[in-house]
This record gives sequence, structure tokens and C-alpha cells, in this order.
Amino acid sequence: MPESDADPEVPIVCPECETTTRIPIEDVADSLERHNEGMHDGEEVAQVDPDIAEELADLVAEDLGLL
Ligand SMILES: [Zn+2]
Repeated sequence: MPESDADPEVPIVCPECETTTRIPIEDVADSLERHNEGMHDGEEVAQVDPDIAEELADLVAEDLGLL
């Protein structure tokens, strides 16, 4: 399926699980919290891909409280 600009997804990387998961942008904060709470005892192991986080910082960081 082609990606749509209207429904952007954000890559979440977890170095401990060695996973990269693409999450719809509106669900990123919840998914990160759920993963870290469930998998890592609340430690902030999984994060938004740093390259993407920089791009997003100006757009959504304040909205989502990610950075
Ligand atoms: Zn993990």
C-alpha cells in the first residue's frame, strides 16, 4: 500500500528489542509509553527514530510531548 501524506507514520526504534515499528503519528506517544511500561518497566528504552525526531520536533513535539 502506498504511504499517504495525510496519515504519517513515525518509526519507533527499540534497541533492546531490536525492533523498529511504524506507528501512526497520533498514536506514537501512547504506543511508546505502553511499550516501555510493558517491556521495560517504564524505562524510556524505545524512542522515536532520532533522525525523524529532529524532523518532527518543530511540527509536533510540543503537541505530543515527546521531546
Ligand atoms: Zn523494547
